[in-house]
Amino acid sequence: MYGEDMNLIDISMEIKNGMVIWPGDPEVNINWMARIGKDSHANISELSFGLHTGTHIDVPKHFVENGWDMDSLDLTVLMGSVEVVEFPEDVNLITYEILEKQEMQNFERILFKTRNSRLWAENINDFREDFVALSACGADYLVSKGCRLVGIDYLSIAPFTDPKTTHVKLLEAGIVILEGLNLYKVQPGKYDLICLPLKLAGREGASARAILCATD
Ligand SMILES: [Zn+2]
Repeated sequence: MYGEDMNLIDISMEIKNGMVIWPGDPEVNINWMARIGKDSHANISELSFGLHTGTHIDVPKHFVENGWDMDSLDLTVLMGSVEVVEFPEDVNLITYEILEKQEMQNFERILFKTRNSRLWAENINDFREDFVALSACGADYLVSKGCRLVGIDYLSIAPFTDPKTTHVKLLEAGIVILEGLNLYKVQPGKYDLICLPLKLAGREGASARAILCATD
């Protein structure tokens, strides 16, 4: 089922100047190099940004010294059935105990919808340190369940106060992380995911377009 009958939800962030970025990362700069007129036949833009801007994936090389990089990425990880799990507003950290209570059989691909998605709906462009994230023990749980892909609706899967541990646990297990999702309009449930990152040779991550297709 491909084509105009597909029920698509674009869960990617818009890349634009002034958008929210991780503190210390490069600003997004997208500018016209040429405009149609007497000096040019075409409109041409240039773009510079950090690879962890907006919707993007992390692969092991991001936090693991000898981890594999974008050249080794198996695209089938990023395409296929996925479950969107929604957590109530009062969940500030996704822990082992919280995940254990989810009635899920298949953790192969999982996207976490939290109160973070409301920030995108409200166009809040200042970086928020209090975003909802996955704890280190929550990462252990996903590893034990054979997860291949985990996504979240803010710029990092890991809490602001400890960015390293959760990333290392997931990436050492070869789990691909999909960050910077906008899940505001997405109801929890099962979908098909299509996510295609840029083919950035030898890098630790890449910008991506991510789409959900309703399965029924
Ligand atoms: Zn990242």
